[in-house]
Amino acid sequence: MKFVSRDLDKLKTLLSSDDQVLVTTHIRPDPDAIGSVLAIREMIKQLGSEAHVILEDECPPRCGFLPGADEILTLSETKNTQRYKAVVIVDAGDRGRVGDVERLISTSAEIVNIDHHSSNEHFGTLNFVYPDTAACGELLYFLIKALSIELTQTLATNLYAGLVTDTGRFRHTNTTSRSLQVGAALIDAGADAAAITDHLYYDIAAQDIRSIGIILGSLELHGRGEVSTMLVKLDQSIEDPDHVVDFARAINGVEVAALLSEMKDGKIRVSMRSKARVDVSKIAESFGGGGHVRAAGFRMIGTLTEVRDKIVPVLLKAVKDSSA
Ligand code: 5GP
Ligand code: MN
Repeated sequence: MKFVSRDLDKLKTLLSSDDQVLVTTHIRPDPDAIGSVLAIREMIKQLGSEAHVILEDECPPRCGFLPGADEILTLSETKNTQRYKAVVIVDAGDRGRVGDVERLISTSAEIVNIDHHSSNEHFGTLNFVYPDTAACGELLYFLIKALSIELTQTLATNLYAGLVTDTGRFRHTNTTSRSLQVGAALIDAGADAAAITDHLYYDIAAQDIRSIGIILGSLELHGRGEVSTMLVKLDQSIEDPDHVVDFARAINGVEVAALLSEMKDGKIRVSMRSKARVDVSKIAESFGGGGHVRAAGFRMIGTLTEVRDKIVPVLLKAVKDSSA
């Protein structure tokens, strides 16, 4: 993978400067987001500077085993009134995705944007945006090599967590031979593939399994069965929506699946997945969100059924247009 050498020089200077570096990611962080902020923190340490990982939301329990996870601070925990002049934002397609962490960022800050979303808005003063990488974990592997940073076992573990999650355990269409090669190199560097996958996918709270049963029961098919929806009430919310949205997409004949979840702030969060033709990131962008071609999301005001009734026609039309 090729980087612009001037950008690499700038990155190295920034990450090894005397300024403390704020490292952050998107709200409701997933394992690629958490693994990536932890990896960047270690990269900055190796380069001789200090990093503070501060997120709006807590680290999800399934990511708690990742090396360094206990060093993550949430906004409410930090008494920090400091405004950082050096900031790394990873796995976020637009700047608004960092949430209220925005208030820790100086207006004159150097912002490094490291991401793999096709909808990325290149909001950084320095942008490393590579939508052809399956995960930020994959992208960071190449940055680590390019910066001559030592690939330690802890780095490998954090990168592997992102890679295994964002590729849907190496089975989504974003899984390339390069993703597998990076996975192999991470295992060679000490990542325990089976243990990481177990922590992330097979260590589920019993309550979540009960909720999964209820959510699966909410399945509806629309049109001639090319669009599926599932609804999640606030008290049924589960830690990892991938568990159910994967089933919604797996149904034969379904091209687009949407999982609609009530959130604490009263909005509905829409998680979309497509099988082969529809670019769901375009649909998400049209509703103010973003994501990838086959996995994207946004939030909308309304009740579960109102939002369902609003988006289903849009999804049906997208499927129809894609097969025209
Ligand atoms: P999920 O459905 O798993 O929450 O998200 C799928 C993908 O879409 C992820 O890469 C996620 O970062 C992105 N995504 C989800 N919701 C939003 C959103 O509201 N805004 C943007 N920009 N991206 C989103
Ligand atoms: Mn990601």
